[in-house]
Amino acid sequence: MKKLLFTPGPLSTSQTVKAAAMEDIGSRDALFVDAVKQIREELLTLGQVSKEEGYETVLMQGSGTFGVESVISSVIGENDHLLVLSNGAYGERIVKMCSIHKLPHTILRFEEDEITDPAAVRHLLEQQPHITHVACIHSETTTGLFNPIEAIGAICAELGKTFIVDAMSSFGGVALDIRKAHIQYLVSSSNKCIEGIPGFAFIIAEKQALLTTKGQARSLSLDLYEQWQGLEANGQFRFTPPTLSIMAFRQALQELREEGGIPAREARYRKNKATLDKGMEALGFKQYLRPEIQGHIITSFLYPNDPSFHFEQFYQQLSDRNFVIYPGKLSKTNAFRIGNIGQIFPADVAALVQAISEIMQKQTAHA
Ligand SMILES: *Cc1c(COP(=O)(O)O)cnc(C)c1O
Repeated sequence: MKKLLFTPGPLSTSQTVKAAAMEDIGSRDALFVDAVKQIREELLTLGQVSKEEGYETVLMQGSGTFGVESVISSVIGENDHLLVLSNGAYGERIVKMCSIHKLPHTILRFEEDEITDPAAVRHLLEQQPHITHVACIHSETTTGLFNPIEAIGAICAELGKTFIVDAMSSFGGVALDIRKAHIQYLVSSSNKCIEGIPGFAFIIAEKQALLTTKGQARSLSLDLYEQWQGLEANGQFRFTPPTLSIMAFRQALQELREEGGIPAREARYRKNKATLDKGMEALGFKQYLRPEIQGHIITSFLYPNDPSFHFEQFYQQLSDRNFVIYPGKLSKTNAFRIGNIGQIFPADVAALVQAISEIMQKQTAHA
């Protein structure tokens, strides 16, 4: 029996998405070049923007982090200054990129169980007018909270700052209008809510912003501007493209359309989340975040107050039953995570909860 992944990615994908990656294809084949073109256009549509409105899509080989690093290391110029908003491991990952690439930056941190406060962002930007760029995580996968990117984007627009959003674990699973959110650079990847297989990241960017970044990159392979220029010139990647992952992604986009687009997918993920919440509450599990700031992508559950609970055992017993969950990543508290995204449905979540219930009963009986 196949394993079901209740993780932040890579995720469970459909058989037809996997099958689309089963045939060899040349990187200069018309079918492949067409797929790249179609994907670049369709991602704009999913972000509710278009080429005519001045937006571009750049595909970048590698995992999601490669996409974020491509943006961070390419768009902050020598005389620019980046404000990193951090309330979890993914914000800290951007901080690390800044230090590796020696970028001028300032960090505004919040607790892991608090969202980024737009008023604090405004205050800091007003105090430090030399800041030119702001980076924020949308769905902070460390905990599962949603940062208020629309409110932060409005402040950036008002104060003339370039806004970079890591929407890795939310794009495709949450309705988002990139223009209305005043985002200049949005990053996500092939193996999250679009439900493709791993292989590449994508960046949706405002063309006017992108045009100013020529020659600024600190890396050859992650040069965002050159990657864009390469795709524009002949529809090709500069270096070996993730051919099979692209073909799978094209199929994943078709399946997203057939499901009813982002609104339908968001509704399914929300149903998964509601099923999980209800089931886990009945079993006595407590969530790490308060519900007002919790998103519907992934949830952190505290370890139960039971000395007989051992996460590794719990994980293995679930995995033996083909349910794969995820360890926690909190700096101060022990928790594990359960994702609601990918090819999983409310009945799968109910089956997971049932398995958890049986395992917990056994553990208690043995204790
Ligand atoms: C998954 C994820 C990433 C990228 O992780 P990779 O392992 O490089 O694919 C970045 N940011 C967030 C918020 C994520 O959820």
